[in-house]
Amino acid sequence: MNSKPVAIITGASRGIGRAISMALAAEGYDIAAIARTSDSECMLSLQPEVEKLGASFFPVGLDVAHTDLHDEVISSILQRYGRIDVLVNNAGIAPIERKDLLDINEEAFDSILGVNLRGPVFMARRVAREMIWLKDQVKNCRPSIIFVTSFLAYTSFTHGFEVCISKAALSMAALVFADRLAEEGINVYEIRPGLIKTELTTRSKYKFDRLITEGLIPQKRWGTPDDVAKAVASLVRGDWSFSAGTIFEVSGGMNIKSI
Ligand code: NAP
Repeated sequence: MNSKPVAIITGASRGIGRAISMALAAEGYDIAAIARTSDSECMLSLQPEVEKLGASFFPVGLDVAHTDLHDEVISSILQRYGRIDVLVNNAGIAPIERKDLLDINEEAFDSILGVNLRGPVFMARRVAREMIWLKDQVKNCRPSIIFVTSFLAYTSFTHGFEVCISKAALSMAALVFADRLAEEGINVYEIRPGLIKTELTTRSKYKFDRLITEGLIPQKRWGTPDDVAKAVASLVRGDWSFSAGTIFEVSGGMNIKSI
């Protein structure tokens, strides 16, 4: 059994997931990092950065939409570490081509919901079952599951329909998991990022730059992956141990309606 706590982070290779991996390594966690390929340039470059922080790094290749592979992946992580303390369901995608709602097709719909909703839901179910058993075997275990959703869970975007509904549904999934798992001693939280500067938002950078200048974000700047990672670190540290099911907005105030 690993003496240090272990965190699984999906979508760990870049952007928000990468920052979360580093933040949790700094918090004393060993890191099981999931992305579609385990030996991409991004994953290879993340390993030494995590190890520099004194953590062990286990790169795992998995498309989270392939729920039939979840068992195998979780077993391999348990085989290596013998415990799982934290799951951060962070992997998520946007449509390759932003289409108007009236032009969407079934293929993109299924693919986005597979990654953004089906994958994290069944990953959480699989890991929760292990956590219920493990928390009584592991000393000082403080299990938690964090769902990374989006401001698009409550904001209409007619050229991002699939993301909007996948994130709105994932938000409800987080709530129901929080309800069910509270009695098991597993805290579930939702982190809701706003506009965060990553590869995901590069394509729409100029549009969002303009919207930020026009006042879309009360705090008047892009978010950074570190903004989100700091919030996740605070959750796993136990700073919010009596706040199961809470939504943590990291959006510079995009959630504020003002007149
Ligand atoms: P990103 O820079 O595009 O990174 C996405 C990560 O997910 C990469 O590590 C990618 O690695 C991995 N990934 C993609 N598809 C995957 C799959 N099918 N299975 C496993 N891993 C997969 O995105 P990000 O901006 O960091 O976003 C992270 C999360 O935050 C997403 O859920 C996103 O919806 C949410 N979010 C982001 C923003 C924003 O403004 N950036 C705003 C709100 C919410 P590989 O390509 O190597 O697989």
